[in-house]
Amino acid sequence: MPELPEVETTLRGIAPSLQGRTIRELRVRNASLRWPVTDEVQRACGQVVQGLRRRAKYLLIELQTGGLMIHLGMSGSLRICDADDAPRKHDHFDVVLDNGACLRFNDPRRFGLLMWWEAPADEHPLLRDLGPEPLMNEFSGGYLWQKSRGRRGAVKNFIMDGKVVVGVGNIYASEALYMSGIHPSRQAGRISARRYDALAATVRDVLERAIRHGGTTLRDFTNSDGNPGYFAQELLVYDRQGLPCFQCQAPIRKKVIGQRSSYYCVRCQR
Ligand SMILES: [Zn+2]
Repeated sequence: MPELPEVETTLRGIAPSLQGRTIRELRVRNASLRWPVTDEVQRACGQVVQGLRRRAKYLLIELQTGGLMIHLGMSGSLRICDADDAPRKHDHFDVVLDNGACLRFNDPRRFGLLMWWEAPADEHPLLRDLGPEPLMNEFSGGYLWQKSRGRRGAVKNFIMDGKVVVGVGNIYASEALYMSGIHPSRQAGRISARRYDALAATVRDVLERAIRHGGTTLRDFTNSDGNPGYFAQELLVYDRQGLPCFQCQAPIRKKVIGQRSSYYCVRCQR
């Protein structure tokens, strides 16, 4: 599933092709995505792309009077191609530009979405309750410590809660907790401010590293230029159950927390 680094990588990959271009046409081949694609998206036609940005895992194409919102869902990917190129299987929509290029969306499982929004995007129902971005200054150990007081649930679920902080998916939560020496089942409300400082730093570090490496590919994702990311080769703990911990050689354990597989070292994480 594309996580924050893949979405950020996609954004950086497609932005130069869209910035400043006029949208000529919106071709929807299959409107039955996570929510049906409505005719509202046609409002994008004739408008100039003012900018592109990411909020959590949503890509926002900013136009003159609103914009388009795209989510990659479980298996979506975007690529830039010639609008005349024959569509492949699962190519559900094209954003056709004035120079004949297009942004093409492929999604075998169809959990992605394409929507029209009116400014300001941050007040859209899908975006307004989201927590801060993990790579921005508002996300810090102090913030996590304050937000976690009184929380009895596992810290892993806490940092994966999009209302606490966005974009910390299962892989990155496991990695950051390992790097900061915090056991994934520990009660969020009982972790010290000092340890949350370490956790905020490792969350940031693991996401930035993944972005530098073009995102983590486990299954479906391909970058917009067609090359898979390769961060999966660098994971320290995720999907390594039974293999020796890189720090102490104890076997990595796997446990289901909040219905998600968690990987940790029983010696290094407390
Ligand atoms: Zn260890």
